Amino acid sequence: MDNPEFILKDTFGYDSFRPLQKDVIENVLAHRDTLAVMPTGGGKSLCYQIPSLIFEGLTVVISPLISLMKDQVEQLRAFGVPSVFLNSSLSPQEYQENMDYVKRGEVKLLYVAPETLLTPRILSLLSGLRVDLLTIDEAHCISEWGHDFRPEYRQIVEIRKKFPNAVCMALTATATSRVRQDIRQTLKFTSTNEFIASFNRENLFIEVIPKQDPTRQVMEIIDRYKDQSGIIYCFSRRQVDDLSAYLGSKGYSVRPYHAGLEDADRRRNQEAFIRDDVQIIVATIAFGMGINKPNVRFVIHHDLPKSIEGYYQEIGRAGRDGLPAHCVLLYSYADVSKLNYFIGQKEGDEKRVAIEHLNAIVRYAEDEHNCRRKPLLNYFGETYTDKNCSNCDNCNSAPTPLTDITVPAQKFLSCVKRADEKFGAGHIVDILLGSKNEKVLRWGHDKLSTHGIGGELTRKQWMHLARQLLSMGYLKQEGEYHTLSLTNKALETLRKRESIFGVMQEAERIKKADGKKKAAELEYHRGLFAILRQKRKDMADEAGIPPYVIFPDRTLMEMAAYFPQSQESLLKISGVGQVKARQYGEAFLEVIREFSASHEINEKPRESHRDKSDSGRRYVLVGELYNGGETVQSLMARYQVTTQTILDHLARFAMAGNTLRKGSDLEGLTSVSGEQTQAVFAVFDEIGTAMLKPVFDKMDGMLSYDDLKVLRLLYLSANQE
Ligand code: ADP
Ligand code: MG
Repeated sequence: MDNPEFILKDTFGYDSFRPLQKDVIENVLAHRDTLAVMPTGGGKSLCYQIPSLIFEGLTVVISPLISLMKDQVEQLRAFGVPSVFLNSSLSPQEYQENMDYVKRGEVKLLYVAPETLLTPRILSLLSGLRVDLLTIDEAHCISEWGHDFRPEYRQIVEIRKKFPNAVCMALTATATSRVRQDIRQTLKFTSTNEFIASFNRENLFIEVIPKQDPTRQVMEIIDRYKDQSGIIYCFSRRQVDDLSAYLGSKGYSVRPYHAGLEDADRRRNQEAFIRDDVQIIVATIAFGMGINKPNVRFVIHHDLPKSIEGYYQEIGRAGRDGLPAHCVLLYSYADVSKLNYFIGQKEGDEKRVAIEHLNAIVRYAEDEHNCRRKPLLNYFGETYTDKNCSNCDNCNSAPTPLTDITVPAQKFLSCVKRADEKFGAGHIVDILLGSKNEKVLRWGHDKLSTHGIGGELTRKQWMHLARQLLSMGYLKQEGEYHTLSLTNKALETLRKRESIFGVMQEAERIKKADGKKKAAELEYHRGLFAILRQKRKDMADEAGIPPYVIFPDRTLMEMAAYFPQSQESLLKISGVGQVKARQYGEAFLEVIREFSASHEINEKPRESHRDKSDSGRRYVLVGELYNGGETVQSLMARYQVTTQTILDHLARFAMAGNTLRKGSDLEGLTSVSGEQTQAVFAVFDEIGTAMLKPVFDKMDGMLSYDDLKVLRLLYLSANQE
């Protein structure tokens, strides 16, 4: 009964592991120090919670946030897992009580803050006990290179020395290769076992819409999510106050959150949100750390975030429970100017970095064609290869027809050239439109042959064209003034008088169709679901815990889909383990039975979701054909795709645990020397094969991604049993 799968279903009620959970758990059970990097909502907690139930001794979890410790312990207790936390929020009596639990060996998990861990009181408590697993949550806090460095985390290594027999596990959702290295070194990991999950969050529908009338647009979105939790991020405290006051006056259930509020108010607002007492939080980016709420259904960015990293972290707070969630960014160029203004007040490196970050998010927001997931995941060094994610605005919109934009493009490019490649897009457009403003006159640009030749387009259309030329690689943009210059591609095209195809913006951009929700959504009875939710809320309030601690939304949806009538059927529902079935089961069964009887609905059998197979997916087909003897060449011809696409499919096939035929045709695809190959293999040994960017960096960019993809496959096919 001590195997991870059994505990997953029996205690936690879940059918199957999320990606990498099982690998991480097995590695820890084999007493190997483990670093796991998984996105928010990836399910990191189970990675130590399941081993803690298998190990004989205590599991100590170091966590930087007091609010998270409480939340985790509440959730664990609901699952029937004995656990406590020790931190400064407890009264002296509570603290002593919890110490006693630990001393008597009654708990499996102990959560502590790093500064608490090193107090003599705790050290003497632990020295008398068997500690089998030492877990460091939010492990990026160890590193000064991380975004949230905590000096106390540096001392954790002292603890390691005191428990040489405990296996150590570090978990984080954000870690560049430098931070990962720092974590390993600081913790003195003996063997390097690193697991890096994909950062793609498939259940998030990602969308950017032009900001026109933001308050109305926000209300339109939240009206679609009646009674469902959401977060609205604003740029400043004032905007937060204004928007939340306005929405409140319109009858929405909303509270503000920002660093300018009294501590007590902030805590109260956050708590009300977590407990489903209020529906919406309007916040600055101060909100989110330390929130584990799994059923956030939408995240709206009322203003442009400062970086892709921050943006991804913020939208990551939606849909932790794996159910569909909606992320909308309202974008306007005015926000870019505003951020630029603030950046202008910085200096040196800080300024340079801020500009780079801003440029990246602007490129992302203005891209109307490519899958949103590509640049987001790329930013984290991950290649996203699916042609169509079918869960972002760009993948769901009808393709915009390309038109011949050669003439305006030529005008723009030659104007850039004639102005000596020293100016940004705004000034170039001024020249094209024949402006005689001070700057144009000062530089004598009213004398250029391109002055005033662009009257056929509006300023907005010219700016849109400029951004397209930039993203199509005809222009480069550099420095703090966003200076434009021509690329070789542009020079070639101009010289050969080649045509350029692109999108000519209409005066108003056509509103895109709303993304369809991900397929295969569960069909459930909304009426029963609402009743079950109310039941859950009442029980939660009585117990003084957040509703999701009792059951997640998914569990209630399944109840409203399968109408279980008995404990036995209830145990099959996702999220219902033994203890929860006993503790809460009867109360919910009563509601379901009554509803079923009055609506004459019978119980429906629930099939196991355990073996959702991958067959029928393109990469599986490609992998199987390859193993059957087809070469990369013939697969390219068969699917009419590039070598890279085939290589990506094969890598995915191999990384999904399939064996790959050893073939000499792969070697023919690269001319990398044996020495370099060995060096790259050594890097794969160290950091795994999930992402290529860190490998690329480690090789100082000496090898192309194309080469690395081939080498990755050679590595994967060589390193399998
Ligand atoms: P992280 O710490 O990585 O952000 P959590 O451990 O808090 O994520 O998990 C997020 C949510 O996903 C939790 O509500 C958790 O119960 C749920 N969850 C985790 N693993 C699974 C699984 N294998 N099946 C179903 N739900 C899961
Ligand atoms: Mg976590």
